Amino acid sequence: MSEQSCLFCKIIAKQIPVDFVHQDDRSVVIRDINPQAPTHLLVIPLEHIESLDEASQKEEELLGHLLRVAARVAKGEGLGESGYRSVINTGAGVGQSVFHLHVHVLGGRSMNWPPG
Ligand code: 5GP
Ligand code: ZN
Repeated sequence: MSEQSCLFCKIIAKQIPVDFVHQDDRSVVIRDINPQAPTHLLVIPLEHIESLDEASQKEEELLGHLLRVAARVAKGEGLGESGYRSVINTGAGVGQSVFHLHVHVLGGRSMNWPPG
């Protein structure tokens, strides 16, 4: 998918109005439109990377940043004590539907393991 037609690139460019839970020079965090838990956030890099599979060595630091932002916003949502799950779906076969890398942060309910 090209950046021009990418939903998350449009959100980042503010072509689609969305409230940002967090913003910094490398990422934004939004609430999922179809939440799968009481808290369901998406940590999205500003850079268009289609999936974790496409991330290269030069993105190593960015990947670490996304996980640290996930932890920070989870704590900001009060999930520090109860815990939260961070998920990256890679590929349509496991549920990736938006092909711009993002980390799901889910919490506020009990969860099973292994995930379905
Ligand atoms: P994926 O399925 O690629 O792992 O995750 C994409 C997520 O983006 C889904 O959980 C879906 O609900 C969410 N999503 C799709 N369209 C929109 C939108 O327009 N706004 C927001 N906030 N989330 C969206
Ligand atoms: Zn994109």
